[in-house]
Amino acid sequence: MGPEELRRAIVAAGEVLGFRQIRAARPARLDREAFFERWLADGRAGDMRFLLHHRKARLDPRTRYGWARTIVSAFAPHPPPPPFPGDWRGRLLGRIAAYARAPDYHDELGRRLAAWAAQIRTLAPDARIASYTDTGAIFEHEWAAQAGVGWTGKHTLTLSEERGSYGFLAELLLSLDLPVDEPVAERCGTCTRCVEACPTGAIEGPWLLDPRRCISYLTIEHGGAIPEPLRPLLGEWVFGCDLCQLACPWNAPASDALEAELAPHLPELLTLDEQSFARRYGNSAVRRTGRVGLARNAAVVLANTGRPEAIAPLLGALAGHDAPLVREHAAWALGQLTAHAPQVVASALEHALRDSSEPVRDAARAARERL
Ligand code: SF4
Ligand code: SF4
Repeated sequence: MGPEELRRAIVAAGEVLGFRQIRAARPARLDREAFFERWLADGRAGDMRFLLHHRKARLDPRTRYGWARTIVSAFAPHPPPPPFPGDWRGRLLGRIAAYARAPDYHDELGRRLAAWAAQIRTLAPDARIASYTDTGAIFEHEWAAQAGVGWTGKHTLTLSEERGSYGFLAELLLSLDLPVDEPVAERCGTCTRCVEACPTGAIEGPWLLDPRRCISYLTIEHGGAIPEPLRPLLGEWVFGCDLCQLACPWNAPASDALEAELAPHLPELLTLDEQSFARRYGNSAVRRTGRVGLARNAAVVLANTGRPEAIAPLLGALAGHDAPLVREHAAWALGQLTAHAPQVVASALEHALRDSSEPVRDAARAARERL
């Protein structure tokens, strides 16, 4: 089989497995070292310490895979975000990013990539193959752009005219010398809708993201207390955020109204134990933030509802949650809601001044000062 025919067969096999926009690039050193080093030096990686490692391999996959001759890059679409109920505050609902509503993509796409690799081996038995899908030291968006899967939007995600940006990226590094593609033209033009839609100012400007302000980072990757000035800006998001993608004119509008019912009830997120968390989110990307992280986020979103109904679950969390991080956020959240039941809240905060954790005591003291 010649290279053209082999490439067509590989693309056909990938499409059967649900991959789209399958394109190829030649492995090389990416011209991003200065940008990346400055980005790291500015501290933008935050708690994502893994970005500090394997820098050489990130910039040039050949340093790890000397045999690689082709990088196949592909897009695996997921459904667009469902509409979110306008009365989420009264119903005490939180919102989960669209990509996390399906089974965890690391598992699901990993299986599909393994099946794809197996099929390639039937076509080219001697081929060496490595695969990635948000699972290692490779600049996925850069390679998607190089291969022409799409262009990098001003929100720094990959998007295309055909598919927008609702999807995952996946890569296969192959020892096969296949014909490669050209990058596609960037089609953002003068649009800045994603920049304007970002509630936290995380998109500092076109193609410049500060993850430390991004709701996706804060609700998933960030391990400790969420910076107080950013908490009100989280709005309804308990896991991830779709706002910059929702604003993009290349994306399909929200579709399936029934899906909205899957929005989690915030008080429940405060009471999950490890078993119930694993039962509910063990197969979903939500597991990444962990039971405590999700409860921390729920406490913040309960404050953001501004509703008196949010007080009771927060009082319960302040008095009884096993994680100091959650009690700390519950104390802060109660401090945002003091207008509704000042005496009950004051008494709970008074009690929290004797909490075994210093950050909880500090948060309770600060919340009392708002009374
Ligand atoms: S995911 Fe949300 S917070 Fe992050 S850049 Fe996009 S709009 Fe901003
Ligand atoms: S919203 Fe506009 S600027 Fe942002 S990625 Fe989409 S087209 Fe580009």
